[in-house]
Amino acid sequence: MVSKKEVDKFVKSQESIHLYSKMQKALTDVLLKFPNKDFYKVTKNLQIISVQEGIIGQGMVFPNPKGKFKIISIVYIPKIPLNVLRFIIAHELGHIHQGRHKIVKGEDNWALERYANKMTKEWGFPPTKNIWDWITKYMKMFNLNFPKDFPKN
Ligand SMILES: [Zn+2]
Repeated sequence: MVSKKEVDKFVKSQESIHLYSKMQKALTDVLLKFPNKDFYKVTKNLQIISVQEGIIGQGMVFPNPKGKFKIISIVYIPKIPLNVLRFIIAHELGHIHQGRHKIVKGEDNWALERYANKMTKEWGFPPTKNIWDWITKYMKMFNLNFPKDFPKN
Protein backbone atom coordinates (compact mmCIF):
# COMPACT_ATOMS: atom_id res chain seq x y z
CA MET A 1 0.00 0.00 0.00
CA VAL A 2 1.03 3.56 -0.58
CA SER A 3 1.92 5.66 2.46
CA LYS A 4 -0.40 8.29 3.93
CA LYS A 5 2.40 10.81 3.47
CA GLU A 6 2.64 10.16 -0.29
CA VAL A 7 -1.13 10.33 -0.68
CA ASP A 8 -1.35 13.59 1.29
CA LYS A 9 1.39 15.06 -0.85
CA PHE A 10 -0.48 14.24 -4.05
CA VAL A 11 -3.83 15.46 -2.72
CA LYS A 12 -2.21 18.73 -1.62
CA SER A 13 -0.76 19.17 -5.12
CA GLN A 14 -4.25 19.25 -6.64
CA GLU A 15 -5.00 22.95 -6.90
CA SER A 16 -8.51 22.74 -8.31
CA ILE A 17 -9.76 20.95 -5.17
CA HIS A 18 -7.82 22.89 -2.57
CA LEU A 19 -11.07 24.47 -1.29
CA TYR A 20 -13.16 21.29 -1.50
CA SER A 21 -12.41 19.30 1.65
CA LYS A 22 -14.91 16.54 0.88
CA MET A 23 -13.19 15.95 -2.47
CA GLN A 24 -9.82 15.83 -0.74
CA LYS A 25 -11.13 13.34 1.82
CA ALA A 26 -12.68 11.04 -0.81
CA LEU A 27 -9.59 11.18 -3.02
CA THR A 28 -7.38 10.36 -0.01
CA ASP A 29 -9.63 7.43 0.96
CA VAL A 30 -9.48 6.00 -2.57
CA LEU A 31 -5.74 6.43 -3.07
CA LEU A 32 -4.88 4.91 0.32
CA LYS A 33 -6.25 1.60 -1.00
CA PHE A 34 -3.88 1.59 -3.96
CA PRO A 35 -0.83 -0.66 -4.20
CA ASN A 36 2.33 1.41 -4.73
CA LYS A 37 2.66 0.61 -8.44
CA ASP A 38 -0.92 1.64 -9.21
CA PHE A 39 -0.58 4.81 -7.16
CA TYR A 40 2.48 5.96 -9.09
CA LYS A 41 1.02 4.89 -12.42
CA VAL A 42 -2.20 6.87 -12.02
CA THR A 43 -0.92 9.95 -10.19
CA LYS A 44 2.12 10.64 -12.38
CA ASN A 45 1.42 13.90 -14.28
CA LEU A 46 -2.22 13.81 -13.15
CA GLN A 47 -4.20 16.99 -12.52
CA ILE A 48 -7.75 16.56 -11.34
CA ILE A 49 -9.86 19.41 -12.62
CA SER A 50 -12.90 20.01 -10.46
CA VAL A 51 -15.31 22.92 -10.51
CA GLN A 52 -17.89 23.44 -7.79
CA GLU A 53 -21.49 22.99 -8.90
CA GLY A 54 -22.77 26.43 -9.86
CA ILE A 55 -19.41 27.72 -11.03
CA ILE A 56 -19.40 27.86 -14.83
CA GLY A 57 -15.78 28.34 -15.83
CA GLN A 58 -12.22 27.92 -14.59
CA GLY A 59 -8.87 28.57 -16.26
CA MET A 60 -5.63 27.14 -14.88
CA VAL A 61 -1.99 27.34 -15.94
CA PHE A 62 0.60 24.82 -14.77
CA PRO A 63 4.35 24.70 -15.19
CA ASN A 64 5.56 22.14 -17.70
CA PRO A 65 9.01 21.53 -19.24
CA LYS A 66 7.60 21.94 -22.76
CA GLY A 67 5.92 25.26 -21.97
CA LYS A 68 3.01 26.05 -19.70
CA PHE A 69 0.20 23.52 -19.61
CA LYS A 70 -3.15 25.32 -19.80
CA ILE A 71 -6.60 24.06 -18.91
CA ILE A 72 -10.01 25.62 -19.24
CA SER A 73 -13.01 23.85 -17.75
CA ILE A 74 -16.45 25.09 -18.67
CA VAL A 75 -19.74 23.60 -17.56
CA TYR A 76 -21.88 23.30 -20.63
CA ILE A 77 -25.32 24.65 -19.81
CA PRO A 78 -27.58 24.02 -22.81
CA LYS A 79 -29.81 27.05 -22.10
CA ILE A 80 -26.93 29.51 -21.55
CA PRO A 81 -27.32 32.55 -23.83
CA LEU A 82 -24.62 32.73 -26.51
CA ASN A 83 -23.40 36.17 -25.38
CA VAL A 84 -22.92 34.91 -21.80
CA LEU A 85 -21.02 31.84 -23.02
CA ARG A 86 -18.83 34.00 -25.28
CA PHE A 87 -17.99 36.25 -22.34
CA ILE A 88 -17.16 33.31 -20.05
CA ILE A 89 -14.94 31.71 -22.69
CA ALA A 90 -13.17 35.05 -23.31
CA HIS A 91 -12.80 35.57 -19.53
CA GLU A 92 -11.21 32.15 -18.99
CA LEU A 93 -8.93 32.70 -21.99
CA GLY A 94 -7.99 35.99 -20.27
CA HIS A 95 -6.75 33.99 -17.27
CA ILE A 96 -4.76 31.78 -19.64
CA HIS A 97 -3.35 34.89 -21.36
CA GLN A 98 -2.06 36.13 -18.01
CA GLY A 99 -0.12 32.89 -17.78
CA ARG A 100 -0.94 32.01 -14.18
CA HIS A 101 -3.86 31.26 -11.86
CA LYS A 102 -2.27 32.26 -8.58
CA ILE A 103 -2.09 35.69 -7.00
CA VAL A 104 1.43 36.94 -6.45
CA LYS A 105 2.67 38.90 -3.42
CA GLY A 106 1.40 42.46 -3.30
CA GLU A 107 -1.63 41.82 -5.51
CA ASP A 108 -5.14 42.10 -4.13
CA ASN A 109 -7.57 39.16 -4.28
CA TRP A 110 -9.20 40.30 -7.48
CA ALA A 111 -6.17 41.20 -9.60
CA LEU A 112 -6.56 38.04 -11.69
CA GLU A 113 -10.26 38.67 -12.27
CA ARG A 114 -9.64 42.27 -13.33
CA TYR A 115 -7.00 41.08 -15.78
CA ALA A 116 -9.34 38.47 -17.30
CA ASN A 117 -12.12 41.05 -17.61
CA LYS A 118 -9.75 43.55 -19.21
CA MET A 119 -8.86 40.98 -21.87
CA THR A 120 -12.55 40.26 -22.63
CA LYS A 121 -12.90 43.98 -23.48
CA GLU A 122 -9.78 43.99 -25.66
CA TRP A 123 -11.13 41.01 -27.58
CA GLY A 124 -14.60 42.49 -28.05
CA PHE A 125 -16.63 40.48 -25.54
CA PRO A 126 -16.99 42.90 -22.63
CA PRO A 127 -19.08 42.04 -19.60
CA THR A 128 -22.45 43.78 -19.45
CA LYS A 129 -25.02 44.11 -16.68
CA ASN A 130 -27.21 41.69 -18.62
CA ILE A 131 -24.42 39.07 -18.66
CA TRP A 132 -23.66 39.41 -14.94
CA ASP A 133 -27.38 39.28 -14.13
CA TRP A 134 -27.68 35.95 -15.98
CA ILE A 135 -24.60 34.48 -14.26
CA THR A 136 -25.73 35.77 -10.85
CA LYS A 137 -29.20 34.27 -11.29
CA TYR A 138 -27.70 30.95 -12.40
CA MET A 139 -25.36 30.81 -9.41
CA LYS A 140 -28.25 31.60 -7.04
CA MET A 141 -29.82 28.26 -8.01
CA PHE A 142 -26.81 26.70 -6.25
CA ASN A 143 -26.89 29.14 -3.32
CA LEU A 144 -23.74 30.81 -4.60
CA ASN A 145 -23.24 34.56 -4.53
CA PHE A 146 -20.48 36.65 -6.01
CA PRO A 147 -18.39 38.26 -3.28
CA LYS A 148 -19.51 41.89 -2.90
CA ASP A 149 -16.25 43.32 -4.21
CA PHE A 150 -15.87 40.90 -7.16
CA PRO A 151 -14.80 43.04 -10.14
CA LYS A 152 -17.51 43.01 -12.78
CA ASN A 153 -15.88 45.19 -15.38
ZN1 LIG B 1 -12.10 34.54 -13.48
